[in-house]
Amino acid sequence: MTIIDGKTTARQAREEAKKRTEALRAKGIVPCLAVILAGEDPASVSYVTAKEKALAEADMASRDIRLSADISEAELLSLIAALNEDAAVHGILAQLPLPKHVREDRVIDAISPQKDVDGFHPVSVGNMVLGRDGFLPCTPNGVVRLLQTLNIPLNGAHAVIVGRSNLVGRPLSILLTRKDINATVTLCHTGTKDLAHYTRQADILIAAAGKAGLIAGDMVKEGAVVIDVGVNRVGDPSAKKGYRLRGDVDFEAVSQKAAFITPVPGGVGPMTIAMLLQNVAAAAEKTLDA
Ligand code: NAP
Repeated sequence: MTIIDGKTTARQAREEAKKRTEALRAKGIVPCLAVILAGEDPASVSYVTAKEKALAEADMASRDIRLSADISEAELLSLIAALNEDAAVHGILAQLPLPKHVREDRVIDAISPQKDVDGFHPVSVGNMVLGRDGFLPCTPNGVVRLLQTLNIPLNGAHAVIVGRSNLVGRPLSILLTRKDINATVTLCHTGTKDLAHYTRQADILIAAAGKAGLIAGDMVKEGAVVIDVGVNRVGDPSAKKGYRLRGDVDFEAVSQKAAFITPVPGGVGPMTIAMLLQNVAAAAEKTLDA
């Protein structure tokens, strides 16, 4: 069994992004991401901090926009409109979840598709579905990149995805069924009857449900590749912060059967940030052709 080292693969992808930044800087362009955080949700604060640190390490600029949780939807939309017009800003990221009174769809739709480095805008999603050029969502793209870097055979493989969110499971199902990747996908969700029946058939099992330990040892085929996207905070009084991060997979049990498995943390998470940097580089490169 091999524990997949997402950090190393992510480091390589981040180095690539840094090289692209150097080439852009030589042409007078500094790739810049505007990062909007409304409120102080601790998980969101830590994600935003990690993204900004990664941007700095890749010699990219970031515009750190911290807003009060009671910002109105109209104010947020007008801020995004201004960023859309700002030529020094190449990408715009609104950290989710947004405060409850703000409609997420409105905010996602307001971001210019040219600056939609999260790949959530309907135009980006449409391009992805049609197999056209456009920004791919970072976590699903990171999972694909991880599998490809490890030379895991995808052509004809049966990939079973647990979770159909717009953020992870559904876009992943679209990417894996692209002709150049050619996997056969089963997409599971809470309406799936007998989840284990499907997960046991997986050559590649991807858990993205947000339920700690959902995937037990007896739900996995011997020799499967297991990718754990889940990040769950599980209370643990013996831990310094009072909780530990756990994936959706029962790592102890499943690692006895899997050929490859990602740890949490250190598996998919680092790839997400690396793919974000690549999208920011791509957004800045596009301004060269404009
Ligand atoms: P989400 O929006 O809550 O979606 C969860 C999906 O899993 C839903 O489609 C849900 O089904 C399905 N699901 C939940 N419990 C299930 C069960 N018992 N059996 C079958 N399906 C089940 O979550 P998300 O945003 O996709 O995130 C999923 C996990 O990935 C979370 O732990 C999140 O923190 C993590 N995540 C990690 C990264 C990273 O970079 N590592 C990035 C994004 C997300 P229904 O549609 O039927 O409700």
